[in-house]
Amino acid sequence: MALPALALTRSQVERSAPLRTDTEWLAAAWADEKTRVILVKDGQALIKDDGGDAGLVFVSPDEAPDGVRFLLGVDADGVAYFGVLAQPGAPQGDQPGAPQGDQPGTRKAGLREAGHLLSDRDAGLLTNAIGLANWHAVAGFCPRCGHLTEVIMAGHARKCTNDGSEHFPRCDPAVIMLVTDPDDRCLLARNVQWPPKRVSILAGFVETGESAEQAVVREVFEEAGVTVSKVAYQASQPWPMPHSLMLGFRAETGTTEINVDDEEIAEANWYSREDLKKAIENGDLLMPPSLSISRWLIETWYGGKLPRAPKPT
Ligand SMILES: [Zn+2]
Repeated sequence: MALPALALTRSQVERSAPLRTDTEWLAAAWADEKTRVILVKDGQALIKDDGGDAGLVFVSPDEAPDGVRFLLGVDADGVAYFGVLAQPGAPQGDQPGAPQGDQPGTRKAGLREAGHLLSDRDAGLLTNAIGLANWHAVAGFCPRCGHLTEVIMAGHARKCTNDGSEHFPRCDPAVIMLVTDPDDRCLLARNVQWPPKRVSILAGFVETGESAEQAVVREVFEEAGVTVSKVAYQASQPWPMPHSLMLGFRAETGTTEINVDDEEIAEANWYSREDLKKAIENGDLLMPPSLSISRWLIETWYGGKLPRAPKPT
C-alpha cells in the first residue's frame, strides 16, 4: 500500500541556489511585479482557508514591508518566490505599502495547522520560509565575537561585520524510530508531558560526535530500557519548529521487556496491529497527527492508513 508523501517533504519550486549570489538577477526579480512574497514570523504565515483549497497569501514586492528578505526559489513558469521576516497579514504601523489588515477568509497559521492542507508548492515554500525566518530571527549576532551579522547570499547565509566569518542556517538532526519486538509488535510510548492516551514512537536529538544510528540505539535504551539492533533508515522530514531535521528509522529488538525512564517517558507498551486498531477505534489511544513522520512510520508498519478515532462526545 502506497502512503502519501510526507507532508513537509513536498515541493514544486526549484531552490535556485546559483541565483543567490546573482545580484543583477535578484534586483530584477524583486522589481518584477509577478514575483510573489510571503511574510513569515514566529513560525506563521497568512493562509487563505475559506472552505475551498487552502493556500498561502502572497504579496507583491511593492506591498512587502521591510525585513530580512530571502529567496525561496523559482517555479517552472519563471516566477520568483521570496520570504520576508515580518508579521504576516496584520497592519504594519507606518511602513509604506504595508498590508492593511487581514482579508476575509484568511488567517495566520504555522506548519502544524496548515502543513497538510496546502498544495505541494505552498507546503514546500512555507516549510522553507519558516526554517529560514526562524534562523534569521536568532542569528543577528556573530557567535564568535558578538558583533552584528549582515545578510548575504539572498538570505541563505549571514556574515559577521567584524571578523568576516560566514554563518549558515543551522538544523538540528533528530532521530525518530519505530521499534518492533520478535512478534513484530510496535513500541508506543507516552511522553510525561502529554495528556493521557496520547502516544507515539520514541525520538530524540542526535548528540555531537554520534551517528544517527548510534543515537537510535542510545535513545531507545535511555527512554525505554530496550536494546535494539538492525537499525534501518526509512525517510526524513524537515521540522523547522524551530530548526530540526527528523530522520526516521526502523529498529528491532529481541526482547519484550520495557523499563521506562520516568523522566521523559511515562509509559510504553507493545502493540500488535490488531491491538492498535482496537485501541484507536475504542478511543483508548490518541495517535500523532497526520503531518508528522511518526504517523507515517507507524502507518508504514501498520500497512495502511490508521483507523479513525471515535468522534469526541
Ligand atoms: Zn564575528
